Amino acid sequence: MKVLVINCGSSSLKYQLIDMETESVLAKGLCERIGIEGSRLKHEPTGKDKVVIEENMADHNDAVKMVLDALVDPNHGVISSMDEINAIGHRVVHGGEEFSGSVVIDDAVMNALVKCSDLAPLHNPANIIGIKACEKIMPGVPQCGVFDTAFHQTVPKKAYLYALPYEYYEKYGVRRYGFHGTSHRFVSSEAAKMMGKPIEETKIITCHLGNGGSIAAVQYGKSVDTTMGFTPLEGLIMGTRCGDIDPSIVTFLENKEGLSAKEVDEIMNKKSGVLGISGVSSDFRDVEAAAAEGNERAQVALDAFAYKVAKSIGSYAAAMNGVDAIVFTAGLGENSGSTRQEICDYLGYLGVKLDAEANSKRGKAMEISTADSKVKVFVIPTNEELVIARDTKELLDK
Ligand code: ADP
Repeated sequence: MKVLVINCGSSSLKYQLIDMETESVLAKGLCERIGIEGSRLKHEPTGKDKVVIEENMADHNDAVKMVLDALVDPNHGVISSMDEINAIGHRVVHGGEEFSGSVVIDDAVMNALVKCSDLAPLHNPANIIGIKACEKIMPGVPQCGVFDTAFHQTVPKKAYLYALPYEYYEKYGVRRYGFHGTSHRFVSSEAAKMMGKPIEETKIITCHLGNGGSIAAVQYGKSVDTTMGFTPLEGLIMGTRCGDIDPSIVTFLENKEGLSAKEVDEIMNKKSGVLGISGVSSDFRDVEAAAAEGNERAQVALDAFAYKVAKSIGSYAAAMNGVDAIVFTAGLGENSGSTRQEICDYLGYLGVKLDAEANSKRGKAMEISTADSKVKVFVIPTNEELVIARDTKELLDK
């Protein structure tokens, strides 16, 4: 079975074609600037040269067509015909309370997705457009939806309710949902395998630290708490997002700076985080480089980031009454040994001991704690596309 995994943004479309017999990626790529001047497709067939095709893509239908053309192209293609694609798996950001697992997409699911769009106005409409485009260009090929929020649907009510008037939860679904669920699910299950234990016997804290970041408490294989909330703005300090702040700051800034609510929202999402504190960049590599050259604001941005992560880990060890393993994943979690070290320096009281030598390595799933560390610490590269493809295959095998 070959599964095409699609992750649609408002002006982008990322894809991977995965052969499920071997779980190997046949090709992957990205359509950028869809509907904007200068649109292009970057296509990377495994074992062949990368190509960049600059061609106008007026909408997502054009993008799906271009992806298919690239996949069957005699030179840089990897399949001989579109018929070899057995199914499509879509990453969908918000499944609200409707979806606690992946589903085969039908009319009822599409209606539910539209209903959830209110909760993720920037993301779900793009996901829906992507699904419709695939339906149009590849009619009859089954499509599945895999949700960022689904894994966190096991979070108990005491953890997902905000202390606001209850009617807002009932009327509008104002509650914590959590995101990056596909990644937290994947790395927690990989960690249990690396520990040689059934996941039902483990307490794992997973730290997905990329441009956006979130931490999850995974108790006996189920998410019981996570740092992102109603939107991906809550929780950790991120590349450009502020994470937890006193909500009164919003009205304070509106008054002081004469800003609209929308403008403050933009500032909290796009101009805050390590970018906001450091004034240097949202990319941790730039901020680390600036800190190394003595830039104090860059250093305090990194320190504040690690401190917040460490506090969140501590709170989840409390929530689960213990922790067996901590996992680092995503761009920063997988690649920045210094960040992992700075975070783990706070965790001695839990019995966490990092192995400096192992922590300096990169590139594969590995244990980075010492043999006598009470809590195991792992670096596990995340693979959300593979999870989406696996879920799609499993749903269709049924
Ligand atoms: P997202 O998927 O949320 O866009 P990624 O998981 O790709 O993000 O992570 C991107 C972040 O990871 C960037 O801020 C980048 O600076 C950071 N990153 C990647 N490699 C390194 C590295 N070697 N050292 C420090 N940070 C890194």
